Amino acid sequence: MKFLYSDTQDYVDPEYDFISDRNAPGRRRYWDDVYAHELMTPAPYDGLLVSMSAVRQAAGVANSKVRYSTAEEQRMLRDGVRKFLRYGGPKFKDAMVLGDCGAFAYADSKTPAYPPQEVVDFYLDAGFSHGISPDHIIFDCLTDNPPARDVAPGVVERFDITLSNAEEFLRLTEAEGYPFEPLGAVQGWSPKSMADAAVRLEKMGYRYLAIGGLVPLKVDVIKHVLHALRNAIKPETKIHLLGFAKADSIHQFTNFGITSFDSTSPLIRAFKDAKANYYMESPEGGLDYYAAIRIPQAIENPRLMQGIKRGIFSAEDLQRREEKALVALRNFDGGNGKMKAALEAVMDYQRFLTLGEGHPIEKYEKDLSKMRALVERTLDDAPWKRCRCSVCSKAGVEVIIFRSSNRNKRRGFHNLGVYHKHVQRTLEKKR
Ligand SMILES: [Zn+2]
Repeated sequence: MKFLYSDTQDYVDPEYDFISDRNAPGRRRYWDDVYAHELMTPAPYDGLLVSMSAVRQAAGVANSKVRYSTAEEQRMLRDGVRKFLRYGGPKFKDAMVLGDCGAFAYADSKTPAYPPQEVVDFYLDAGFSHGISPDHIIFDCLTDNPPARDVAPGVVERFDITLSNAEEFLRLTEAEGYPFEPLGAVQGWSPKSMADAAVRLEKMGYRYLAIGGLVPLKVDVIKHVLHALRNAIKPETKIHLLGFAKADSIHQFTNFGITSFDSTSPLIRAFKDAKANYYMESPEGGLDYYAAIRIPQAIENPRLMQGIKRGIFSAEDLQRREEKALVALRNFDGGNGKMKAALEAVMDYQRFLTLGEGHPIEKYEKDLSKMRALVERTLDDAPWKRCRCSVCSKAGVEVIIFRSSNRNKRRGFHNLGVYHKHVQRTLEKKR
C-alpha cells in the first residue's frame, strides 16, 4: 500500500536560523527551500498527489485556493511536475506523481471546473505518472442504499457527469497513447451506487479506480463502501483512496486490496491539532502523539498585541518572558537545566498569552492546567531526543516548539516520516 502526500507547496528553509528566528541571508523562497523528500532520507512518502485546482484557477470559482502563481504554473507545465517538485532522478524515478482535479474546489458549482480535454492536456504537459478522471463530488453516503429515483436529481446528475467524464477522459488518454496511467474516479450516494459506478468504470477499461467523497465519512461507512466495491469488482483492479482523512486507522483497511491512498493529515496536525502535534511510533506498533510546546512570537501574535494595546502588559516584558521560555527549553534539552524550570517558564509565558484575551484569568485556569499536563508529558518523555529522523537529528528541540512555519512544517515532515514507517510496518505485520 503506497502512501502519497498531497502537496500544497510545503517546503522549509534548510538554513533557517532558529536562534535569531531568521531565514538564511539572501534566501529565495522555493529555489533555496527544500521539500520533505529533499530534507529527509528516506523520503517520508511513496509518492505525491498534485491537484489541478491548487495549480490553476477553477473556472467559475471566485475564491478557489490556488497555491501556485501563474509563473509557477507555467514552469511546472514547461519543465514537468517532477522537475518542479525536485522529485526526479534515479532516486524517485519509480515514485508515483498522481494528478487529480481537486474536486473540492468546485464542489459548489453545477459542473466540474475542468473539461476532460483540459485535464488530459494538463496531466500530459506536466508529465504525471498517473491521472484521475475529472469527477464531481457527492457528499451523501446513504448506507441503506436507496435507488436513484429516491435521491435528489442533483446527486444523480453528479453521478452521471462523473461517469461520462471518465469515459471521455479514457478515450482521450488512449488517443494520446497512455502517457500516464488513468484512474477512473468513483462517486456515488451509497455503497451500492459506488459499486455500480466502479463496475461501469471497469467495463470502460479502467484497471485503477480512485474512490472519492470519503473525507467526511466515518471509518465504518468507508469500510461499508469498500466491502460493496470489492464484492463487485475484479480482484486485480487497483484502488486508490482519495483524501483519506482517517489515516490513523489505516491498520483497519489492509484487507481491501488498496494499492494507494493520499492524506495530508500527519503534516496538518503538526500545527492544526489542539494536542496531537508530534507523532511517535509506540512500542506496540501504533502511533503515540505529543503536544508541541507553544511559544509563539510575541511581536507577531495578535492576542499579545491586543494585551499590549489594552495596557495589560508591555511588549518588553512579554518578549523577556518569551526569551526566558525559549532559553529554559534549550537549556533543558542541552542537559544544563531542569525540566521543572522549562515547564514553569513555558507556562508563565502561556499565562501571559492567555491574559492577552482580556478576560479574567480564572476563566482559563482549567485550560491552563490541561495545557500544563500536556507540556509536562512532552518534556518528561522528550520524544524528539529519541527520534533519529533527518529533521529531529538536525533541528533538535526546535522541532517540538510550536512557533513559525519553519518549525511547524519540520514537525509536519517528521510526522510524515513516522507515519510512512507506521504504514510500512502495519503492512509487514499483516503479511
Ligand atoms: Zn523526527
